[in-house]
Formats: sequence, structure tokens, C-alpha cells
Amino acid sequence: MQVCHVDDLAISAAAEMLPEVSARPTAPIHVPTAAPHATGKHTVHWFRKGLRLHDNPALREGLTDAVTFRCVFIIDPWFASSSNVGINKWRFLLQCLEDLDSSLRKLNSRLFVVRGQPADALPKLFREWGTTALSFEEDPEPFGRIRDNNIMAKCREVGISVISRVSHTLYKLDKIIEHNGGKAPLTYHQFQEIIASMPPPPPAEGMISTQTLNGATTPLTDDHDDRFGVPTLEELGFETEGLKPSVWIGGESEALARLERHLERKAWVASFGTPKMTPQSLLASPTGLSPYLRFGCLSTRLFYYQLTELYERVKRVRPPLSLHGQILWREFFYCAATRNPNFDRMKGNPICVQIPWEENQEAFAKWANAQTGFPWIDSIMVQLREEGWIHHLARHAVACFLTRGDLWISWEEGMKVFDELLLDADWSVNAGMWMWLSCSSFFQQFFHCYCPVGFGRKTDPNGDFIRKYMPVLKDMPTQYIHEPWAAPASVQRAARCVVGRDYPLPMVDHAKVSQINIERIKQVYAQLAKYKPQGSINPQVVARPNMEPSSPSPTSIITSINQSDYLCSQPSDSQSTTSTRSPPFKEAEDIIIQPNSNTICDTKQTLKQIVISQQDQTVPLKNQQTEGNSELDMSFQLNPRKQ
Ligand code: FAD
Repeated sequence: MQVCHVDDLAISAAAEMLPEVSARPTAPIHVPTAAPHATGKHTVHWFRKGLRLHDNPALREGLTDAVTFRCVFIIDPWFASSSNVGINKWRFLLQCLEDLDSSLRKLNSRLFVVRGQPADALPKLFREWGTTALSFEEDPEPFGRIRDNNIMAKCREVGISVISRVSHTLYKLDKIIEHNGGKAPLTYHQFQEIIASMPPPPPAEGMISTQTLNGATTPLTDDHDDRFGVPTLEELGFETEGLKPSVWIGGESEALARLERHLERKAWVASFGTPKMTPQSLLASPTGLSPYLRFGCLSTRLFYYQLTELYERVKRVRPPLSLHGQILWREFFYCAATRNPNFDRMKGNPICVQIPWEENQEAFAKWANAQTGFPWIDSIMVQLREEGWIHHLARHAVACFLTRGDLWISWEEGMKVFDELLLDADWSVNAGMWMWLSCSSFFQQFFHCYCPVGFGRKTDPNGDFIRKYMPVLKDMPTQYIHEPWAAPASVQRAARCVVGRDYPLPMVDHAKVSQINIERIKQVYAQLAKYKPQGSINPQVVARPNMEPSSPSPTSIITSINQSDYLCSQPSDSQSTTSTRSPPFKEAEDIIIQPNSNTICDTKQTLKQIVISQQDQTVPLKNQQTEGNSELDMSFQLNPRKQ
């Protein structure tokens, strides 16, 4: 499988769906003066994420005193089928747009799906429509912020007022950073302390209704469907023959129905704890919310406050902060990423440990295409490709396998595959979690890694999950389903699955490579420890965030299974313990690790020696945006370092 790499594309429609693409504003935006016939307020609301009518403060304000309003979403059909966005994701997006259009029809309005690129399309439409106000949800991601600042400046030049409001996250992230002395908190513990000292997030606003419109109308023309209708996948150039029905249906209506079911289930369980993990948990759930939060079909604040209200009703006490653990982890990663344009890469990313990963296209392709020979890993990758969602622990399994566990391939490669295929893939959370899983940031318990057989067996003891996604193994006896290569030849023949012919042999010897890789990371951290500023170690902060059991962190998932039989471990010696310090150690220095060919450890394998050097890594953000944009203060510099 070929994974397209995001490069410097001009702003495109898919850009609105994919922040890292939207990241690259290139063409200058020329916004013409509003048409002279425009009198009164004529609003355009630009949907990107935030695909909803509930809790949409920017749209609400755009509608205040408006004479006309038009809701637009911009798609570049030329970009669509060639982009690195999987078909399931496009389908989900189009369903969201259909749903939005249908809700707007109920308000005698319509959605305008504009074909083209925002930088070209918007100015033309502003002129045609006599637009005087532009509203949109504030984009918390660095390049989205640049694009929006750019467009805001140009609109203001020609007298189009701009309304931009926070509603994708609970808080205005800049406020959290301000409270932390101008730096994003890089431990969850620190993050929790800061938000605990801040006022609670603003409540979710109601649904846009006829009352909200207050007489504002949408001028519609007979050719609306031809010009502005929601396209089909085929119109976008996708081949849909053989496409399986969607497991996740996009849209605000579905999101709200799911929220209701989600809360009903919580109320029924009433423990507000982590639901017990069963093999069933691995499957898409009708109460799952992550794709809806990602596309903004569901407001994070609505979720937050409805959960609070339910807790108070059932338990009759004020909820602990940990009730919102999961959603706060989302906020944490958003906050960590918002001023770091290199958050999704290793090089130039001041919070990422520089690890000498290997390039191995063949091994990477086997992982991405479910050909590793480990049924647990392969069935997860099939589920990801077919359905667009996999369980949190399944993400742990495949991410660890690709990176520090088995293949020693960079987390960036895995992140790109998730980005293409996961419906909930999110620039900040995805990169943050991949750094976490690969021990590149936030988490450094590298002396444990998941066993692709033991972990699978523990999670899916009967192999039902494997049988569902890997039909080739459906007749393999349970005893061998997680390691079919261990089955006697007669058993393989009887199951009509001869390993090496019908299903691949395992691509690595996990026991061996995992020990080698643990050793490699140990070396990286041992070297890093030499550069650590005195007194900065607080292993507890990272290893066990101060959280209640009801909101397990990705770390606590690992620490809670330490004793179980599905981790491959090495004892954490003094070096490795030291290295569990929290990520901000990089603030005072930036460290590059370069491989050379010497051997270094006492395993029988040859490993590359890690050499650490320091490098100036001021992130030249200005180069990536239009000059002279004083509104956007994103100077992102490392502290001066001592050599
Ligand atoms: P729930 O457990 O019901 O949580 C509710 C919401 O909280 C989620 O919908 C999500 O928005 C948020 N959330 C939950 N767990 C986390 C977490 N650990 N970090 C941040 N937010 C969280 N989640 C994403 O939303 N987008 C991603 O791109 C993403 N990439 C990931 C990559 C890797 C390698 C790993 C290990 C995890 C990733 N996650 C990501 C986190 C997590 O796996 C999903 O949020 C979760 O599986 C979604 O299922 P749910 O809706 O049932 O979540």
C-alpha cells in the first residue's frame, strides 16, 4: 500500500477536513470589497470542523442581526480522490454534510458545498453574495490558525467583519498556556492543576432554531443542487464497487443519538468507571463518540456538561475532575500541539525524543496491509482499513508493534496510516498518542512492550475478533489462533490455512526483536539522561498521573497490566528509572540522536550506537505563514542551551 505523504499543497477543500493539509497556505488571498448593493449584515458561515448546529457560537453570532446567511463547506473535487484520506473518511464527511443540509432545510436554508479552494472560492462568493460578515469556529491547530489569521486580516482590509469563536475544545487553549506562564503544560498532572485553577469551560449553547434566525433568510436559486449540492463519492472520483456499508454513520443527528445512548449506558452502569474490557469492546460500539468529536458533529462541551449533569443526578455529589478524564486527555494534546507546528514529526519537534528509527518499506507495508503474520496485529489492521475505527488497546498493540516493540519503524509512518484510515484521526491527538506509544514523548516506560501473541490472547481469548476480520483463520483451533505457525501441519491443513502459503509466517521473532529494541531505547534514554537538568526528575508524574481509576490514562493502562502475561519486559534499572521523567526536559536543550555503526550492548545482536549532539531548533514558524501577521503570536523558540 502506498501512503501518500502530505506535502506543501495549496489550501484545498480536503484541507478543511485534514488540518495538516490545511496547514499550508500558499497562495495569497485577495478578498474583494463587498458588493455595493449589500446593505445590512450578510453573513457567510464557513464550516470546516464543527459540523453541527448545536453549540455553534460563531454561527450564532453571525446570525445576530443578519439579513441573510449562507452556510458553506468547501471541497476541492480534484484533490479528493488523490488525497491521503481514506474512502471511509470521505464517506463519513459527506454523510455529515448531508445531515447538515437536511437540518438547514428545516430552517428554510441549505448548505452550500462549494467546489474549489478556499483562497479562490471564498472571495468570489463574497462578491457575488455581497457578504459583510464571515463566521467560523476557531481552529486550534497551528496551521489552521495561520490560515485563519491570514483570511481574517484580508477580510478586515476590505471591511468584512470576522467572527471566530472557540468551540472545538473545552477551553480557549491560549488561556491554559497563559495560566502556565506562556508554555503549554507537557505533563497531564500539570495540565490538570492548571485547569483546576481556571473557571470551568463555558456551557454549550443551544441548537440554532427559527428563533435564533430571527428573520434572517438564505437566498436560494433553482440551480442550488447543481452548484452547491453535497457531492457523491463517485462524483469525487472514488470507486465504490464492493464498498461495504458504513459501520459509522456521519452527522450531527447520529452524534446526538449516540450521546444519548452513551449517557444512558453510563447511567445504567452508574459507576462512571472504565467499562470492563471484553472481546466485544474491540468492535465498533453504537455509543462510540470519537469520530463525532473529531468532525465536530458533537460538541465537546455538550458531552462534558451532560456527563456532569448525569453524574450529579445519579451520585448526588459534584463530579471529580477525573470524570472527564478522556475528554481532558484530548484537551491536553490539543494544548500541547497548538503552538507547535512540528508536533506531528520527530525532526524539529522540541518535545520529541530523536530516535534513530529505521526505514524499511517492506516491513512497513506488511504492517499497514495486515501481512505481519501475527493474527492479532493483522486483524486490527483489517478492522482499521474496513471500518475506520479500532479500540484504544488495539491502537496500543499495533503502534507498539510498528515502533519500539518489533519493527523499529518511525511513529510518523504509523501516524500517517492512522491519519488516512481512522475516522477519528486528529492532528493533535493522533501525533500525541503515537509519540506516547513509541516512547518519543510524554511516556518513557520503554522497558515494557506488548507481546503480539500474549496481548491478543488475553484480549480475545477465543479468537472471535481474529475470525471476524481474518476469515482465512476462521477454522484454526482456538489453541493456535494467535500463533498459527505453532500448529502442527495436520492441524493447519485441517483448518485450510497452511502458514507460509495461505497466511504469512510471522515477520519477526518477537521475543528477540523486542529485547533488542528495549535495549536500543534504553540506550537512547541513558544518553538523554546525561543532558537532563539537575532535579528535574519526577517519574511519578509521567508514570502514574494522579488520576482516579475512572479515567485511566494511556500510561495507567500499561502500569495496570504490568503483572500480566502479555507484556515483554526488562527490569527497569537505574538508568531506565531515571528516564521516566516528564517531557519538558527538552525545554532547556534539544537533543539529536544519530546512529553510527558501532555495537553497544551485550545482546548478541549488532545495534547502532546512539550519539547525542545538540542542535539549534528554533522553529521558524514565520516562514510558513504570510509575513507581518501581528495577531498571531506563535514565536516558538527553545530556550538558549548550554553546550
Ligand atoms: P472514550 O473512551 O469514550 O472517550 C471519549 C472521548 O475522549 C473520545 O471520543 C476521544 O475524543 C477522547 N479520548 C479518549 N481517549 C483519549 C486519549 N487517550 N487521548 C486523547 N483523547 C482521548 N483519539 C482520537 O480522538 N483521535 C486520534 O487521532 C487518536 N489517535 C490515537 C492513536 C494512538 C496510537 C492511540 C493509542 C490512541 C489514539 N486515540 C485517538 C485515543 C483513543 O484511542 C480514542 O480516542 C478512543 O479509542 C476513542 O474511543 P471512544 O470514543 O470509545 O472513547
